[in-house]
Amino acid sequence: MTLHRRYIPDVPEATVKVAKAAFRKGNRYMQMRDELGTLFNDEQFADLFPNVGQRAESPWRLALVTVMQFAENMTDRQTADAVRGRIDWKYALSLELTDEGFDFSVLSEFRTRLLSSGAEARLFDIMLVGFQERKLLKAGGKQRTDSTHILSNVRELNRIEFVGETLRAALNELASVAPAWLKTVVPNDWFDLYSRPFSEYRLPQKEAERLELGERIGRDGIDLLTHIYAQTSPSELRRLTQVEVLRRVWVLQYYQDEDEQTRWRRTGNVPPGERILTSPYDTDARLSKKRGSEWVGYKVHLSETCDEDTPHLITHVETTLATAADSEVVEPIHAELKRKNCLPAQHLVDNGYGSGAALVSSHRDYAVDLVGPARPDVSWQANTEGAYDLSCFQIDFEARTVTCPQGHTTRQWYERTGSRGKPAISVQFSTSVCRACPVRERCTTAKAGRQIGFIPEPEFRALEAARQREQTEDFRQVYKKRAGVEGTISQAVGVLGMRRTRYRGLDKVHLQHLMTAAAMNLMRVVDWLSGKERSSTRVSAFARLAMA
Ligand code: SF4
Repeated sequence: MTLHRRYIPDVPEATVKVAKAAFRKGNRYMQMRDELGTLFNDEQFADLFPNVGQRAESPWRLALVTVMQFAENMTDRQTADAVRGRIDWKYALSLELTDEGFDFSVLSEFRTRLLSSGAEARLFDIMLVGFQERKLLKAGGKQRTDSTHILSNVRELNRIEFVGETLRAALNELASVAPAWLKTVVPNDWFDLYSRPFSEYRLPQKEAERLELGERIGRDGIDLLTHIYAQTSPSELRRLTQVEVLRRVWVLQYYQDEDEQTRWRRTGNVPPGERILTSPYDTDARLSKKRGSEWVGYKVHLSETCDEDTPHLITHVETTLATAADSEVVEPIHAELKRKNCLPAQHLVDNGYGSGAALVSSHRDYAVDLVGPARPDVSWQANTEGAYDLSCFQIDFEARTVTCPQGHTTRQWYERTGSRGKPAISVQFSTSVCRACPVRERCTTAKAGRQIGFIPEPEFRALEAARQREQTEDFRQVYKKRAGVEGTISQAVGVLGMRRTRYRGLDKVHLQHLMTAAAMNLMRVVDWLSGKERSSTRVSAFARLAMA
C-alpha cells in the first residue's frame, strides 16, 4: 500500500457542529485550524515513509499532533487519548467524532523516523516558512538570544557509582546477548558486587577505602575488556553499545602506572570537561557550572525576533553539550538563520556571547551587528583598583611589540593556540626589568617578568569597540530589548517542561527542544492573529523605582 498521500480533508460537518457548540467563546486549536489550516501536508514527509507496506497514519496529522503534544507538555499516552477524546483536537485534525485515533507508540515511531533521517528540524522549519509566507517573520529586524541549562533525565552519580554502573550496564548487555560466554569469564564474586544498582550500596566513608573500591572496579573493567577483545571472543561483543561506553569511560577515568597497576585519574591527569561522561545511560550529558549553579545535562540557546510589528517568534534552537561556551554558538546560529532566510540586522545577546571572534564573524560573514556587553576581563588586575590590566599596555600589532605603563617595551611576542583551540598571543617582559620596577605589585605577582595574553588584532579591536559602545546611551536604548528573551526561556522551562529532558542523547534532546519551540511559535501566532496582546516582561516594583 502506498503512503497515505490524499489531500487534507475538510473538518467533518458533524465535528464542526459539535465543536462550535462546545466552544462558543473560541478555542486556540480551532482558531489555529481556521486561521492557519493544517500547517503540514503529507508530501513534506514523503521521504520518511516507505512506499510499500502497512498504511501509515497521515504524516501531516502526526506532525501537527506532535506540535500540539508539546504545546501541552503531554506524554505520548496522554496525547493519543487527546486525539481520541477531545473535540477541539478532532476539529484541528479533521477527524470524525467517532475516530478512534491511534496507538500512542505511533508518536515515538514518528520521532524515530525524523531522527533517523536527520530531519529533526523539519517540523520547526516548515512552520517558519509558513510564517514567512504570511509576513509574520522577516529577515533584517532585531533578534535576541539567551541560553539556559537543561537537566538530563538520568540520576546524578558520584564517581564510584558512575564507574560501577558503567561496568554493570556492560555486564547486563552481555548477559542478554551472550550469557554462556559471560559465565565463562566472570568470577563468582562479581555477582555480589554488580547484580544490584550501586545506589543501593552503602559506599565506604573513608577516602582510602573509596579509592580501593574505585580501583577494584577499574581492574574488573579491564579484565572484562581484555576478555571481550581476545581473539577467541565473538567479534560482535566489541560492537555492543554498553561495551563501547565501558571502553570510553575506562580511558577517561583510569590509567595504568609503570607497574601496570590500574589507577584513578586525578587532578592534572584528567581529560577536559567536554570529554568527561557522567552516566553510562546518557553519554552526551556533561557536568557544567554557570553563575554558581552546577548541573548534569545540556544547554539550549533560543533565538527569537523582537520587532514590534510582528509576533515574537523563535527562529532558531541550538542544543549543545553543557560544557560548550556561549560564544561558540554565535557563528552556527547565524549560519542557520542565513539558511532559513531570517538573519537579523541586529542580534542582542548577553556578555557570554560577546567574544572577539563572535563579533568579527557576525559582522564580516553575516552583516549582523552583534549587540551586547563584551566579555569582561577576569584577571585580578582588572578587578583591583589601581592595578595594571591589559588596557594599560600599548600593543603594536604591526611591530609585534608591547609597551608597559612604565615605558618598557618587549619584543618577546609568541603566537600560540589559546583556550578551545583559538589563536592567541603571549608576550613576556624581562624578569630583570620587572624585578627592579618600583610599581611591580600593581602589575604582577609572578617571580618572572609580567606576562600578558591577548587575541589577534581584528578580534582585539572588535572587543575594544564593543567596550566603548557599551558606555553609550544609544547602546542602552537598543539593548533594553534583550531582556524579553528571559520571559521566553521561562515559559519554555517553567510551563512547557524544557528544563528536564524527556529523552537521552543530544539528538533526541534537540528534537524535544525544537518541538517545544514549534509549539510556542504556533501559540504565539494564533494569539497574534486573534489580536491577543503580547505579555510584556514582568518588572518588579523595586526595579520600576530604579527606572523612574
Ligand atoms: S612590572 Fe614590568 S611590565 Fe609591569 S609596569 Fe613594571 S616594568 Fe612594566
